[in-house]
Amino acid sequence: MRTVGRVVTKQRLGPDAQVDDKAIIIAPTSFAATDPFLALSEDWFSSPGFDWHPHRGLETVTIVLDGVLEHGDSLGHAGALEPGDVQWMTAGRGIIHRELAYRNEHAHTLQLWVNLPADRKLVATRYQDLRRDGLTVHSGPGVTARVVSGESGGVAGPALTHHPVTGLLLTLDPATEHTQPLPADERAFAYVIAGEVEVAGRPVTAGQVAWSDPVGRTGTSTLALRTPDGDERTQVMLFAGRPLGEPVVLGGPFVMNSRAEIEQAFRDFRSGRFGDVPRLARLRTR
Ligand code: FE
Repeated sequence: MRTVGRVVTKQRLGPDAQVDDKAIIIAPTSFAATDPFLALSEDWFSSPGFDWHPHRGLETVTIVLDGVLEHGDSLGHAGALEPGDVQWMTAGRGIIHRELAYRNEHAHTLQLWVNLPADRKLVATRYQDLRRDGLTVHSGPGVTARVVSGESGGVAGPALTHHPVTGLLLTLDPATEHTQPLPADERAFAYVIAGEVEVAGRPVTAGQVAWSDPVGRTGTSTLALRTPDGDERTQVMLFAGRPLGEPVVLGGPFVMNSRAEIEQAFRDFRSGRFGDVPRLARLRTR
């Protein structure tokens, strides 16, 4: 049985040069406590959003909550994602991409940064569009689990990952108890998107994240969730991954294991080793 060691409330940052509003759910500051996860942010944007920028050494997992997310990248992908769709992007050795609100209207997203193991930092760049309808679903009384990655309830999610990560989007009715199996060696977090839920007995409300550290080296553990009476459904982003236990050095949009590797990433980007900045037109139809 898993326990929850800490509950953290998201920090609202307000507008900046790119977004209309922003919140930090997992701050990229205490990697040993969040490993293999680096950061989780919530963004509300219209224009300009996140225009062309590079990444190396990590994977980004973007969940569209509302509006439409337009993206394009140096591999030639371009498209739009709608609420419930998930984008799983392996930056690996290097990508240049943009993340915008379709027609500069509105996008509301959650973006998780997942670290890559040292020996996979420079893997080939990979892009996966995981449409809401393509996510594996398993359900029980009062519970629907959309499986993004890993395995839950005997079904596997569609995402290919370089490192074991279990990714679930849960919807729970009021007054529902749910026991979620998770690999014992994974560190889990449950971010409450809407509603409220007790996670391993700790009350967690919308905008809070509960952390559960690994409980063993092998086998399966369970995380107990229980929603109170009421008339609101609860939505939870539940992700778990095996900690890497490696040094983390963050340099802008790059995440490597040493300062020298960050400097190399900047040199490679500036010298064109990530490819040219794409000159894609904005989407007109989707
Ligand atoms: Fe990005």
